Amino acid sequence: MKKAYFILVCSLCFSSFVYGQTITEVINQMDLDSLQLTLREFSGEQTTIVNGNEVTISSRVQSNNELAADYLFQKLDKLDHLNVVNQFINGEAGRRNIIATQLGKTNPDNIYIICAHYDSVAAYCADDNASGTATVLEIARILSTQCLDNTIVYALWDEEEIGLVGAGYYANQAAANNDNILGVLNIDMMGYDGNNDNNFDIDVRDVANSLEMKDDLISILNTPEYGFSLQVNVVNPGTSASDHSRFWNQGYSAVLVGESWETDDETPYYHSSGDTYNTLNFPYYHALSKLIMGYMVTKAGLVNVTNSVSQSGNVLTALQNGASYQWINIDTGTAILGETNQSFTPVMNGSYAVEITLGSCIETSNSFDFNSLSLETFKNTEIAFYPNPVKTNLVIENIGSFEELEIELYDINGKLILQESAIKIKTTLNLSALSNGVYFLKIKTNNKLQLSKIIKD
Ligand SMILES: [Zn+2]
Repeated sequence: MKKAYFILVCSLCFSSFVYGQTITEVINQMDLDSLQLTLREFSGEQTTIVNGNEVTISSRVQSNNELAADYLFQKLDKLDHLNVVNQFINGEAGRRNIIATQLGKTNPDNIYIICAHYDSVAAYCADDNASGTATVLEIARILSTQCLDNTIVYALWDEEEIGLVGAGYYANQAAANNDNILGVLNIDMMGYDGNNDNNFDIDVRDVANSLEMKDDLISILNTPEYGFSLQVNVVNPGTSASDHSRFWNQGYSAVLVGESWETDDETPYYHSSGDTYNTLNFPYYHALSKLIMGYMVTKAGLVNVTNSVSQSGNVLTALQNGASYQWINIDTGTAILGETNQSFTPVMNGSYAVEITLGSCIETSNSFDFNSLSLETFKNTEIAFYPNPVKTNLVIENIGSFEELEIELYDINGKLILQESAIKIKTTLNLSALSNGVYFLKIKTNNKLQLSKIIKD
């Protein structure tokens, strides 16, 4: 029997994206420890938690892989910004692809798929294909923290080993639905390099833009900054014996990336329970995972929200155009009521920031120190106000006999509370109705301005 479990949903939490990272930085987040842990758990070498219970995933053979499917669903479902579903093949229980979608911010209809089959033919099957599965999960873990231009689908197929059934089902539906899939990167067996020569294969055919996908992968491989030392073998026409071929059948661009059958250096434990964790070459597997990540992050497109603020006169402006804005008083840690335009004119000196929302991406600018209002203040002999702290009446004396004083009182959040134009020598503001706390008194003439802190108690 399956235990019911609950997922706590935090409706008030901000979803947090990471900004300003380069492709290199994202590639380098591919973490070997994390990959290895997933590999050990998913190939049944160590226990893990599924449905709240400590379990061993001892089988991924199609007839007995519900636990494996639950594991994948729960791993993906705890990541931010992903919509995770069970896609039941022909609507039948016990046969399911796990599909996680991260919607693109700029072009949500442009879809790239990173995929691997999770079923197996024997126990363990670490290389075939816990290796590809763990890499998909690791890419999801890292990319889900990024705001992306295009949509990424993280797909884990069932029933590959009995005829590419899960991927075939998805590809049929996608074609019927006219899904704009721009590239399918299938990873199947990518952890074995027996002779340490770093060879890997790209299996490709001249279908849609599959050859271009191959070129893009090689271009990433050859980018010096990324530091790859892998050796590529392009296999064309590539094998049709894995899930990517189901996408070729529907006219979609797809390639297979994995260890090198072309140089006869695939795992000797193929389709047996000898295919275990300890037979894998981890530096090789890590490097190939990073290459896959490089391709996916390049195609996904990192959205960079401009997060700087400029000042002109007394006006602060967020440099990012076409977004939603909320200005924040850093000193008080509060959003400033009503200040939701791209530009903002502070009424008091202090530190400000702006929260910029661009589609589903939220970014907060760095704190901006604003102190222009102190540039032209009154002399002591020109203006006086008292008492401070004040209980009831605040008196403002126009000692310098200015023609007109503009007097404004703001609360600590920068909200205007009182406003008065004074031509008299003495002006009295009755503050008895205000709650106790800190206020700011702004006194202004044509060419002078002073901002003073008032305590009401
Ligand atoms: Zn396989």
